[in-house]
Amino acid sequence: MTAVVWFRDDLRVGDNPALTAAMARGTRVVAVYVLDEVSPGVRPLGGAARWWLHQSLQSLRASLERIGVPLVLRRGAAEAVLPAVATEAAADAVFWNRRYGRAERTVDAALKLGLRAAGLHVQSHAASLLYEPWTLMTGAGQPYSVFTPFWRRASSMPEPRRPLPAPERPAGSLQSAAVQSPPVQSEPLDSWGLQPSAPDWAGGLRAAWRPGEQGALDLLAEFLDEKLPLYPEQRDEPAEDVTSRLSPALRWGEISPHTVWHETMRVRAAAASGRIGSEGAASTFLRQLGWREFAAHVSFHAPDLHRVNWRREFDAFEWPPLDQGALTAWQRGQTGVPLVDAGMRELWATGTMHNRVRMVVASYLSKNLLIDWRHGEEWFWQTLVDADAASNPFNWQWVAGSGADAAPYFRVFNPVLQQQKFDPHGSYVRRHVPEWGTPEYPEPLVDLGESRRAALAAYDRVKHAK
Ligand code: FAD
Repeated sequence: MTAVVWFRDDLRVGDNPALTAAMARGTRVVAVYVLDEVSPGVRPLGGAARWWLHQSLQSLRASLERIGVPLVLRRGAAEAVLPAVATEAAADAVFWNRRYGRAERTVDAALKLGLRAAGLHVQSHAASLLYEPWTLMTGAGQPYSVFTPFWRRASSMPEPRRPLPAPERPAGSLQSAAVQSPPVQSEPLDSWGLQPSAPDWAGGLRAAWRPGEQGALDLLAEFLDEKLPLYPEQRDEPAEDVTSRLSPALRWGEISPHTVWHETMRVRAAAASGRIGSEGAASTFLRQLGWREFAAHVSFHAPDLHRVNWRREFDAFEWPPLDQGALTAWQRGQTGVPLVDAGMRELWATGTMHNRVRMVVASYLSKNLLIDWRHGEEWFWQTLVDADAASNPFNWQWVAGSGADAAPYFRVFNPVLQQQKFDPHGSYVRRHVPEWGTPEYPEPLVDLGESRRAALAAYDRVKHAK
């Protein structure tokens, strides 16, 4: 007897309910990851995400080997690949942790039916969200559209379950049984071409990140030990390194939100007796995790968020014809607006960008440059290591004004004032735009005041079209 565990957005062995359930059966366990770039509606990964996935799978393979579980890599439509792997492994059971995108759910539902019809035991688990999207609804049975009541309701729910320990390596007899079972063919990871080669643009990513479960646990420990007390005061300052940097690890499931939650609560309880300030800091931090939940829930109830305005009245917004030159200048960090350029160059070099600066560059693109937010969302999708199918479009729509609980359209971030407030000494800007203040630095692409007025006029036309 063999159990197959299908890994998706849960590239970890600790607090992995599907893996734990499979291991608890005491039979052979085979893990599989399917690179599915063909199933209808499943959004192909961007470049930075592909780089991350390669590293993360290497790390997962090593962790699984330590507990005697081989990791099988296959490419193709999951609906065909998974049953094939189950047959090759002579499996009688398949386990996975749930995904919440519409296309992914369609695939999973079809697989569940098919595998069960073929006589296999199929079990899915909750692992990547603190609250499953259908469990948090308003009193009227509707999805929440505003964050504060959503988080209030979430906070009144029973505490999220405790994280599960990583499963142990099974006893010797089982291992020898595993050796006798037929091995399942795996594709070489290198053959997937996830890493850039010509040119190799990933040097900055390698320097900035350590993908994998252990890297994530270390980041969390470092954050809770050293940065948490500074978080409420300084988290908006891009020059400071006080945020957790956990977003890619959460995106890929190298760490679970349950682990982050309970470790933070543990530190909070310890701090309540000693270190002043950490109690409030813990809540401020967990609230950010709340925004991740909110984005996932909104996207569950309103799929295709990267294409469709959440507030449909924005469909009447008339975006001018795309100015490709302006889009390219924005992508390359050549707009002549220091904070915007610093953010866009940070993104290109490291695969991430500070949250405050993400808001500023998104506002600049969608309002000052009047470029459809979808172009910005797509660029982020290609370049972010934490590119998330829910959080990315959710936040883009939040800034653009078309999203759930969005900043009102007329709130146009002024990048000059934002820099004065959050990077007053220009440390962040200079780090990424060394030629700032010299003749080599470009002139502003557009006048901030004029472009703001043009954006507001365009928005007025939507309001009156209602
Ligand atoms: P911390 O401040 O340490 O926060 C802890 C965790 O909370 C983060 O790791 C993240 O999982 C979650 N979180 C924090 N803020 C948000 C938020 N606004 N929305 C959702 N979750 C949040 N985050 C992504 O994970 N993936 C994306 O693709 C993404 N795209 C974004 C696009 C735009 C235009 C904007 C404005 C924000 C986007 N964010 C995205 C949210 C946020 O910028 C990042 O989560 C954050 O910068 C990650 O840094 P951190 O891990 O140090 O955050």
